[in-house]
Amino acid sequence: MLNFELSPEQKALVDETRRFTREKIIPIAGEADKTHEFPLDVFKEAWELGFVGPNIPEEYGGAGMGEVDHVLLTEELAFGCTGIQTSMTANVLAATPILIAGNDAQKKKYLGLLTSEPVFAAYALTEPAAGSDAAGIQATCRKDGNDWIVNGSKCFITNAAWASWYIVFATVDPSLRHSGIMAFVIDRDAQGVSVGKTEDKLGQRASNTATVNFDDVRVPGDNVLAEEGHGFKLAMQTFDRTRPDIGAGACGLIRRGLEESIAYALERKTFGVPIAEHQMVQALIAEMGIKYEATRLLVHKSAWQIDQGGRNSLVASYSKAFGADSAMQVAIDAVQVFGGNGYMTEYPVEKLMRDAKILQIYEGTSQIQRMVIAKNLFAGVR
Ligand SMILES: Cc1cc2nc3c(=O)[nH]c(=O)nc-3n(C[C@H](O)[C@H](O)[C@H](O)COP(=O)(O)OP(=O)(O)OC[C@H]3O[C@@H](n4cnc5c(N)ncnc54)[C@H](O)[C@@H]3O)c2cc1C
Repeated sequence: MLNFELSPEQKALVDETRRFTREKIIPIAGEADKTHEFPLDVFKEAWELGFVGPNIPEEYGGAGMGEVDHVLLTEELAFGCTGIQTSMTANVLAATPILIAGNDAQKKKYLGLLTSEPVFAAYALTEPAAGSDAAGIQATCRKDGNDWIVNGSKCFITNAAWASWYIVFATVDPSLRHSGIMAFVIDRDAQGVSVGKTEDKLGQRASNTATVNFDDVRVPGDNVLAEEGHGFKLAMQTFDRTRPDIGAGACGLIRRGLEESIAYALERKTFGVPIAEHQMVQALIAEMGIKYEATRLLVHKSAWQIDQGGRNSLVASYSKAFGADSAMQVAIDAVQVFGGNGYMTEYPVEKLMRDAKILQIYEGTSQIQRMVIAKNLFAGVR
């Protein structure tokens, strides 16, 4: 049986998050964008309310939220600012490999850290020479007694400067590609870990993005998350679980663009009438509504698949690709609806346009999503 109605609990969650976004995020989002400063006080308040890492199971101190509830929450935070939302939800990206592959001790220690105090964790896969081609990472690991020695540099890592621990992918031999990759949990204060430069970005400027270096870092064997040959699969399984959340961020941004555009179109007059009465403006806004609804359905379906425990790569990539591409188009069109004002920083839509672009890049570009989609579709036929 199909049911598109939210439960009373889900409606309450949406209401609570929406209120938080309206009162705490929207008023400071513009300033955080200008200063590149992530609002730690807002993060702490969100953490107190259980909005950070909400899918961590109750036995490790989390809220044990299902994925459908999680994407509802993310959409609301993203409505306020996708930069702040990205940094708030990055703990989920870091926690997911542990949820998938961690043993009980690793879960207790590292998920417990995230639920016992408002701290950050980061997921470090990308390197200067290996982004889309994740199997091409050059960071190395070698066994030394019961420990592992990790060397390498990870770039563009969300919350790298703030994180208390990192999920780090490294290889026993770069020439082995997929089959050489391992995954580790590495503490920020381990000797040899250093955070490099924080990036100056086009959009999502409130979110910290930085390089993190591992220089002969000794990692205890207890911190191995994926053995040789299993790290790449873990990285991809993680994305299957987290891409719907990028789609949810896109939903929030699209809805913001739509609402801002409707309000402006009703207010702004040209040729003696509100621009809302011009059919070409109506068409732009109608298209935003279509994109919002379609993205939301894909996001909810892919999140529902996670909650059912089934395979979701295909729909996760649909939701990520369609959501990101839609958010970009909606943001561009929102600027168009605002005309010259849309280009000015005192109006909210130019920020949406800058923020939307990264949705098409991180956690697999729109091109990489299409590769995943095609692979799944052809596999279904063969
Ligand atoms: C703000 C921000 C935050 C990020 N956060 C994180 C994080 O927390 N953790 C992390 O590990 N990484 C993170 N990343 C990195 C991000 O995931 C990568 O930038 C992304 O995967 C693309 O890799 P790349 O930049 O190396 O681009 P490239 O791989 O060099 O791609 C360049 C272009 O070529 C296209 N392309 C590449 N290969 C193919 C192909 N086979 N077919 C068709 N087109 C192709 C791409 O789609 C893209 O258009 C972040 C990046 C940014 C900018």
